[in-house]
Amino acid sequence: MASLISKSAAFFGLLSLSIAAPPLLVRNFAPQDIITRDVVIIGGGATGTYAAVRLREDFNKTVVVIERTGRLGGHTETYFDPVTGFPVDYGVQAWIDGPIIRAFTGRFNIPLVAAVQPPFATEYIDFKTGKPVVPPFTQADVTTALTTYFGIVSQWPFLVGGYNLPNPVPADLLLSFGDFVTKYGIQAAVPTIWTFAQSVGDFLNTPALYVIQTFGLPQLQALFEGGFVVPADHFNSEIYLKASALLGADVLYNTTLVDVARHDNGLQQITVKTPTGQKLIKAKKILVTIAPTADNLKPFTLNHHESSLFNQWQYTTNYTRIIRNGIPDDVNVINTANGTALNLPTLPYAQEFSFSGIPGLHTFHTVSVKPQKDQDAQNLVLSSIAAMSAAGTIPASTPSIEVLSNHTPMLLRVTADSVKNGFYTSLYALQGLKGTFYTGSAWAGDYTSVLWGFTDALLPGIAAAAV
Ligand SMILES: Cc1cc2nc3c(=O)[nH]c(=O)nc-3n(C[C@H](O)[C@H](O)[C@H](O)COP(=O)(O)OP(=O)(O)OC[C@H]3O[C@@H](n4cnc5c(N)ncnc54)[C@H](O)[C@@H]3O)c2cc1C
Repeated sequence: MASLISKSAAFFGLLSLSIAAPPLLVRNFAPQDIITRDVVIIGGGATGTYAAVRLREDFNKTVVVIERTGRLGGHTETYFDPVTGFPVDYGVQAWIDGPIIRAFTGRFNIPLVAAVQPPFATEYIDFKTGKPVVPPFTQADVTTALTTYFGIVSQWPFLVGGYNLPNPVPADLLLSFGDFVTKYGIQAAVPTIWTFAQSVGDFLNTPALYVIQTFGLPQLQALFEGGFVVPADHFNSEIYLKASALLGADVLYNTTLVDVARHDNGLQQITVKTPTGQKLIKAKKILVTIAPTADNLKPFTLNHHESSLFNQWQYTTNYTRIIRNGIPDDVNVINTANGTALNLPTLPYAQEFSFSGIPGLHTFHTVSVKPQKDQDAQNLVLSSIAAMSAAGTIPASTPSIEVLSNHTPMLLRVTADSVKNGFYTSLYALQGLKGTFYTGSAWAGDYTSVLWGFTDALLPGIAAAAV
């Protein structure tokens, strides 16, 4: 009986697969619309740009990058203030220093300096009431708790390499972060951890694994040892501008995927829509660097197993922006809620307003676990400023939003049960199957240096496979 059931299940599985498969679109492309490369890289953000430069320049592979916007860099964004002409980085702020960062910035002649915390005043204000809140912990409490946290996360150095988790997964990593904090009595570390890991969204109810991946060993080492660096000209996007010039026509901008036909052996055939019409890319291997959500990967015609993995992602909605004339100069304001666990604001919220160093300009983040529209994020920020102004905490102002940027989906994650049941073992087992490799922020801790390290580890295998 059991075998009958499994046989019919297999049959129906096959049947549904064949029904689900879309009809093959046979289209003839003119020779000038066919691009042949060793590796096609999907997404030209931090990891896509890094992989393209290294595969072409260091591994002697031909590449083409598919980028849906008109620039490289992804989450790295810089605004030039029209008043002073100075740059303000409002996405990626600083890199964790180390050989990988030095090597890649060095090849583009970008000098680095230590990222120094400017001596601006920090005020703790409840953005709902607009009233000041006394920070709940002394600096000494914070340092002690952070040192304890450092010691705890040092047990799991493998996390620096990504989600190559042992089996069984350490139980502490599966605790909600709130339970993890209670277990180790590190409440005083929470405000600092939250500042770095706000992208986690529902912070206290998310598995500790994801908070540690956002603020773990590399970040703690950099924090304690002064290891954060920025370009000397404070213009983070410069490296991507220089990479763009180097890669030249090997990047297709404003280009989206139409259809991806993958094969274990033989050429991958990727149809893309470019500003000058559809093109066919024939490549030996594909490197996916975009967030691997089922929606993003629709053109791939995922099989059942892939869909079952990629459909599990949860993520945060995150906006970063710059506001003019909202908060006084030389002041940073941190949202510190009254009457909630550990003074953390309830979602959705604006996290902070950080003075950019340029008169009138503050950067900020908004965080939500539900989808938000630009207008929702904007309202959140303006209502926070209005509340502070009404409470007399800041002077009345007429703020304007200068730029906005949507970083959603951020911090892809799955449930603790799924992690426990081997999600990442199954996910990592996809590497190389159907001619496809993966990197990007779903695959390792979401920090540039960590992701470049993860990408570095993949490149020899991709180069060897793309022959
Ligand atoms: C607000 C913010 C601040 C951060 N600050 C820091 C920091 O200070 N220091 C640090 O080290 N890290 C920081 N990070 C982490 C940062 O996300 C990563 O370092 C890095 O950007 C992730 O690289 P990625 O290649 O995975 O994704 P991304 O850099 O996001 O690149 C993805 C690229 O793919 C493109 N794309 C998306 N979908 C498609 C599609 N369907 N087809 C074609 N192209 C597509 C996008 O336009 C984008 O260019 C920050 C992240 C955010 C969001």
